[in-house]
Amino acid sequence: MTSPAPSRPADAGLIEKLVSVVGVAHVVTDAQALAPYLAEPRGLFHGSTPALVCPGNTEETAAIVRLCVAAGVAIVPQGGNTGLVGGSAPDGAVLLNLERMNRIRALDPIGNTLIVEAGCVLATAQRAADAAQRLFPLSLGAEGSCQIGGNLSTNAGGLAVLRYGTMRDLTLGIEAVLPDGSVWNGLKALRKDNTGYDLKQLLIGGEGTLGVITAAVLKLFPAPAVTQTALIGLARPQDAIALLARARIASADTLVAFELISRRALDFALRHIAGTLDPLGAPHAWYVLAERHASAPGLESAFEDMLAGALGEGAIADAALAQSGAQRASFWKLREAIVSAQRFEGASIKNDVSVPVAAVPEFLARAEAAVAALCPGIRVVAFGHVGDGNIHFNLTQPEGVERQAYLDRWWELAGAVDEVVQALGGSFSAEHGIGRLKRRELARFKSPVELALMRRVKSAFDPLGLMNPGVFFDS
Ligand SMILES: Cc1cc2nc3c(=O)[nH]c(=O)nc-3n(C[C@H](O)[C@H](O)[C@H](O)COP(=O)(O)OP(=O)(O)OC[C@H]3O[C@@H](n4cnc5c(N)ncnc54)[C@H](O)[C@@H]3O)c2cc1C
Repeated sequence: MTSPAPSRPADAGLIEKLVSVVGVAHVVTDAQALAPYLAEPRGLFHGSTPALVCPGNTEETAAIVRLCVAAGVAIVPQGGNTGLVGGSAPDGAVLLNLERMNRIRALDPIGNTLIVEAGCVLATAQRAADAAQRLFPLSLGAEGSCQIGGNLSTNAGGLAVLRYGTMRDLTLGIEAVLPDGSVWNGLKALRKDNTGYDLKQLLIGGEGTLGVITAAVLKLFPAPAVTQTALIGLARPQDAIALLARARIASADTLVAFELISRRALDFALRHIAGTLDPLGAPHAWYVLAERHASAPGLESAFEDMLAGALGEGAIADAALAQSGAQRASFWKLREAIVSAQRFEGASIKNDVSVPVAAVPEFLARAEAAVAALCPGIRVVAFGHVGDGNIHFNLTQPEGVERQAYLDRWWELAGAVDEVVQALGGSFSAEHGIGRLKRRELARFKSPVELALMRRVKSAFDPLGLMNPGVFFDS
């Protein structure tokens, strides 16, 4: 297959035409104003762009795409710029940010659907559902700034996948501007629609390589009337896996979150983040933060009895059930604090991997042995959505080592983890996607058959290769 011609640089003529579509206030070329859109959360990528363009509606988005394509200029779609793999970091392309397209178009409490524009911030969509006594269950640390279009394009997962699934499961329809500038209105609110290929699933998780998502129909659920949250101390990851199976049955499958936390991860949070408290009487090697929701009361004592039974048998070491909203918030604060606490301990090499749930203990043991053999003194910070088999297996530098020298070993160390993941039938990118960061691993671990199909899908949608070039593939 031949590669498309490389993108051309944008010239003043194109910028003028873009201004004529969206107005001068919505085309940004000033370096200082551009800076926050080019900064990437982990500082791994430094984007560059001739212009940031912010359309106000789908027609303007389509007009921008048509103008760029006619000029042979690449486009990078961008949402809240919270993605963790450099997917929205442009390399000289026009940056198309959806932030002005942030309206809630409709909420249907009978069909339990919400139609939102792609630039709607996730927390705004959650609040709209809540105001109608409904739940939009996607929940993640960046929810105050990430946008629905970005959540869709990365197939975001987050804290409630165990019960509600990822964005793929939470989406009924989408509207998108395709790389030729045509508008695809796929905003159907149907639970059943077997009419050929499910095209929306190609754009979901497509990381902006197949088009610009402009709106979506999302699924809603009854709002939870009961929430039970427990923090549990354990000796071994195996105990967490056994407890997961037991808790799902005892709660009639109403478990929403089941998060694993290592003691080192907790220690970092307690050391560096104000307002965090050691949650149980004595320290434990591992913890689980478990939460269940129900739309009506009924199974509260069954969940409590299950925890008491597990404690009585020695299957877990300790457990605290939140007795108030404040206590629940303090448990979740610990989980969230882990993410920000790591930077105070020096450089960190991040792995966001998944394996079959039953293989998590073996993964943790084998991956830790692999990185410790390569880098004595390395500090593994393991935590994550163990109910989904998804572990953030982050590697904090050994104390006293020079930061950049450690970061220069990123792929030696992350690659060793990915090899263990591969051997266990897992995925080297469970949640965050490929972007520009993980192209190397995509080429290593996807089969030639899959890679060839992915390239064919890309060129069927985007024969000119102008929609987010550099994501997934080097060229
Ligand atoms: C603190 C923190 C916690 C996180 N926790 C989780 C978690 O628990 N689970 C999880 O899955 N992820 C998590 N993430 C990463 C997550 O993928 C992103 O935060 C979020 O989904 C990206 O949304 P965004 O609007 O910021 O997209 P951006 O970062 O702007 O873009 C991400 C990708 O989507 C593309 N894109 C954006 N908008 C569009 C659009 N409208 N049309 C087409 N393509 C588009 C971009 O080109 C890029 O490739 C976390 C990130 C942070 C910073």
